[in-house]
Amino acid sequence: MYVNDLWHLEGSVHVYGRSKNHYVFLFERAGDMHRIIDNGPYAIQGALLIVDYWKPDLILDRLLFDKMMIWVQLYGLPLECFTEEAGVCLGRAVGDVVKVDIDSLMPRNIQFLRLRVWVSLDKPLISGFFLKFRDSQQHWISCRYERVCKICRNCGRIGHTITTCALSFGEAQR
Ligand SMILES: [Zn+2]
Repeated sequence: MYVNDLWHLEGSVHVYGRSKNHYVFLFERAGDMHRIIDNGPYAIQGALLIVDYWKPDLILDRLLFDKMMIWVQLYGLPLECFTEEAGVCLGRAVGDVVKVDIDSLMPRNIQFLRLRVWVSLDKPLISGFFLKFRDSQQHWISCRYERVCKICRNCGRIGHTITTCALSFGEAQR
């Protein structure tokens, strides 16, 4: 199966069942499962695959995908912003911050700040934001979303591209 090649697991994974666009995966090892869910979503053959834990009383047809957790990388930050507190604050520009990925070991990654955030699927993903530095100048901080393919350049939503966007340019700017 395709995900076996993509995910580089220690154990195996099987598709237990499928209903329309929903799949139930069975992981042999819990460690694989946690890592795969924590690193998602995934781009598989042009489609977005969101992976989440099974919950009791789950009815697939009633599952609402109105939001998802995503890793975002912030580029262009001054070094003093590479802290947990700054990450939580800055990440609010993108969505609800779940965690800030600060390495406990040195040397740390100081190329970009990595955040796990909740984003709404029906709202645009921002490509960046302006941040006022101590010199009172506004500097552009750019956002890169890990493993998300197909972000529409017109409306900023996930799952389609500008050529198939249902919104006109005017509507998308609102
Ligand atoms: Zn669009």
